[in-house]
Amino acid sequence: MPNLTDPLSEDESTDIFDKLHEECGVFAIYGHPEAANLAYLGLYALQHRGQESAGIASSDGRKIYCTRKMGHVADIFTPDVLNQLPGDLAIGHTRYSTTGDTVLLNAQPLSVAYSKGQIAIAHNGNITNAGEIRRDLEAEGSIFQGTSDTEVVLHLVAKSRERTLPGALRDALLQLEGAFSLVFLAENSIIVARDPHGFRPLAMGRVEMSDGRGAYVFASETCAFDLIGAAYIGDVEPGEMVIVGPKGLTREHYTPAQNLAQCVFEHVYFSRPDSLVFGRSVQISREEMGRLLALEHPVDADVVVPVPDSGVAAAIGYASESGIPFRQALIRNHYVGRTFIEPSQAIRDFGVKLKLNPVRSLLEGKRVILVDDSIVRGTTSRKIVRMVRNAGAKEVHLRISCPPTISPCYYGVDTPSQRELIAANQSIKEIERFVEADSLGYLPIERLRDAVADTDKRFCYACYTGKYPTPLIQIEELAMATKTGC
Ligand code: SF4
Repeated sequence: MPNLTDPLSEDESTDIFDKLHEECGVFAIYGHPEAANLAYLGLYALQHRGQESAGIASSDGRKIYCTRKMGHVADIFTPDVLNQLPGDLAIGHTRYSTTGDTVLLNAQPLSVAYSKGQIAIAHNGNITNAGEIRRDLEAEGSIFQGTSDTEVVLHLVAKSRERTLPGALRDALLQLEGAFSLVFLAENSIIVARDPHGFRPLAMGRVEMSDGRGAYVFASETCAFDLIGAAYIGDVEPGEMVIVGPKGLTREHYTPAQNLAQCVFEHVYFSRPDSLVFGRSVQISREEMGRLLALEHPVDADVVVPVPDSGVAAAIGYASESGIPFRQALIRNHYVGRTFIEPSQAIRDFGVKLKLNPVRSLLEGKRVILVDDSIVRGTTSRKIVRMVRNAGAKEVHLRISCPPTISPCYYGVDTPSQRELIAANQSIKEIERFVEADSLGYLPIERLRDAVADTDKRFCYACYTGKYPTPLIQIEELAMATKTGC
C-alpha cells in the first residue's frame, strides 16, 4: 500500500515557503566608467536568484579589486564599498547555496593571482564532475580554499599550459561537465561562456553612453538590463565564449552546442516575469501555462486565486481561458527574512501565515481555483489550502502550472532528495488527499513544451521525467557537486 502519511513532518520543513530554491545570478560589464555601480544595480535586479551572499570584482586595467559578503546586495554595497571598486570593468554575483554551505569562502566572485596575472570568476550552474576533478587536482598538490565547484575552474585555468587567458579558459571549459554560465574578469578583459547544453541563461546587451561610446553587459536575466538602460542584443550561445577587451568583442564556439537542455524551470518559477530568458518572455510562457492548464483541468468555480508571486501569471492565463474572475485573495508579505522569532506559544502553520494572509471577503462562500507553480514536499501546499478553506472558501481546487516534480536536479537547482519529493512517492490522487484539496490538476509535460514554444527540443525537463540530458557520475560525486553548485 502506498504511504499516505506526511513525507516530512511540518517541523522538518524549515523553509517557510518550501520552494525549490533560487540558484545564482551573474553580471558582467566592459567599458563603462561606472562599472561597479552598474554591476551593483544589475545584481539588485537579480537579487531573487540568490539572497545569501553577493560580490563584485572590478578592474582599473592594472589590478582587480573584489568585495564579497554574506547578505543582500543593497546591504553590502554602500557608497563607501562601491568607491573601493574602481575601473571600467566589473563582474558580479548573487548566490544561493544549500544549508551548511553558506560560508563566505564560497561567496563569489572568487579572485586569485596566478602565473598569468589576476583573474576573478563568477558562476551560475552546477559542474557535475567537479568532485572528480577536484580529487585529481588535490592528488597533484592543489590546495582548495572552499567547497564551491567554481574553484576547480580557477585551478584548471592556472594549471593550463596554454599561453593566453582565452586559451587557458578554453582548455578548462572543455574538461567541465554539467551546467555553467560563467563570467571571468582579467585586468583588461571580460570573458563569458556557456556550457554546450545551455542549461543556464546568459543574455548579452549594450549600454549607450551620452558621449557616444557604448559598454557591453552580460546578465543571467534581462531584467538586469532594464534597470541600467541597456538594450538586449541576444544570448551567449550554448558552447560559446565571448571575449571583450581592448581589441573589441569576439565570439567563438569553444565547443559545438550539443543535446540542448535549457532549464524549463527558469520559465516555470525562477526567473522574473519581466525578463526574457532564452530569448523568450517569461510572463508569456507562464500565462500560456495557465491557459493550457485551464483547458486540461477545467472546473466549475467562482474565482481563480494565485499563490503569489510566481503563481500570478499562470492564474491570469487560467482566468482568461476559463472566463472565471481572477482575484488576488492571498497577500504576500515581501519583507519576511529567512529567520524570525516564533512566539513561544505554538501557532498552527505559523511560517506560512507569516508570509501569506488571505483576504476573507474575496474567499468567503466561494469555490476557489488555487494556482501555484509547484508542489515540492506537499506540506506548504496543504497549509495554503487550509488557509484558504479557513478563510471561508467552500471548495479549493489546486492547479499546478507544471508536471509533478519527481526527480532531483543536478544542474544548479537546489531540490530535495527523491525521498522527500511527494510526487516521486505518491499518486496524484494521494497528493490531492494529502494537501486536502477538493481536486488537483498538473500541467502535462506536452502542454509545458507548448507553453515555452519548445518546437525543436531545446529544453531540459529532467525533474519531471527523471531522464537527465547528460551522463551522471557516481552518487557520492553528485552529492558533493549538488551541495556546492550555484
Ligand atoms: S532538472 Fe529541472 S530544474 Fe534542473 S535543469 Fe533540468 S528542468 Fe531545470
